[in-house]
Amino acid sequence: MTSLDDLPLRPELRGRSPYGAPQLPARYRLNTNENPHPLPPALLADLGAALATAARELNRYPDRDALELRSDLAAYLGRTGGATIAREQVWAANGSNEVLQQVLQTFGGSGRTALGFTPSYSMHPIIAAGTGTAWVDGHRRPDFGIDPAAAAAQVREVAPDVVFVTSPNNPTGTAVPLDTVCELYDATSGVVVVDEAYAEFARAGTASALTLLPGRPRLVVSRTMSKAFGMAGLRLGYLAADPAVVDALQLVRLPYHLSSLTQAAARTALAHTDALLATVDAVRAERDRIVAALPGLGLTSVPSDANFVLFGRFADAPAAWRALLEHDVLVRDVGLPGWLRVTAGTTEETEAFLTALGEVAPEHR
Ligand code: PMP
Repeated sequence: MTSLDDLPLRPELRGRSPYGAPQLPARYRLNTNENPHPLPPALLADLGAALATAARELNRYPDRDALELRSDLAAYLGRTGGATIAREQVWAANGSNEVLQQVLQTFGGSGRTALGFTPSYSMHPIIAAGTGTAWVDGHRRPDFGIDPAAAAAQVREVAPDVVFVTSPNNPTGTAVPLDTVCELYDATSGVVVVDEAYAEFARAGTASALTLLPGRPRLVVSRTMSKAFGMAGLRLGYLAADPAVVDALQLVRLPYHLSSLTQAAARTALAHTDALLATVDAVRAERDRIVAALPGLGLTSVPSDANFVLFGRFADAPAAWRALLEHDVLVRDVGLPGWLRVTAGTTEETEAFLTALGEVAPEHR
């Protein structure tokens, strides 16, 4: 059998493993931060009709610039993000992963460096490697917050071309104050990407970096329909930035990267925004219920603005992960000693998780 080592692989890919959460059979799958609520029936009906209409034109290439979809996304951000956003400021691709890849293809690449504050979304360094961008781990405090002065000093020293700030952060749930984003922006002449995949789940008072865009042409805010919108299967991510950033991305995007079916489905979903986001409050309530129940089990959590909770501390997190799986509850071992991450979903899922944890915690904390 041929192995990867027998192939003329790029040296920086040698020895690496592909990204992916284990897809194990379990009754309660709380490991990938999806929204478990089913899509509203009215949306499903409209999707059927919209896709049938779009299908009639499948002999043609899609709108390469996704103009109507970008208008709808700009309107959504304007309505909910606390800032006016124009269509020219928005760009969309197949998941925010592709958006981030395009950003690194444009502003990173060979001889360039990206810096992100770990632990954070593990795809950031993987996309960096895939685009030939060097990666530097930024420091966080022990409570997983970012110390603004220390982070700005590190950014000045490393002088990265791209800085990633994930807010709310995955896997910790930690939101980054806007003042910190501003300090980091001022500390670099590179692009600052605020990855806001979980922004809609933030607690009251946690602001989006969208409000910082005016006057900051190197700031990029990325979002996704995979989480709060409950449409992870659609693969639709997007960003807001200065129109010049969107123009720059055109240099690397593949022509017709976003299929007409995806564009039609995303626009239909956006027309149902209110119904889709109605589940966000319910998910937040489950998150807060998990957080509130942990001290009673002798456990703790990191304050979360997302739809998941990093909880612990366990003597042996992988052993606790296995014990939960034996109770049919699949959570995520993100490789942080003592901690596990659970996605907040339905009330039934929270009950199952807390019941299982009640049995597992005494032996493992
Ligand atoms: N950013 C963060 C912080 C994430 O956690 C995820 C998904 N796990 C993504 C981006 C990518 O999401 P998608 O490609 O589905 O938009």
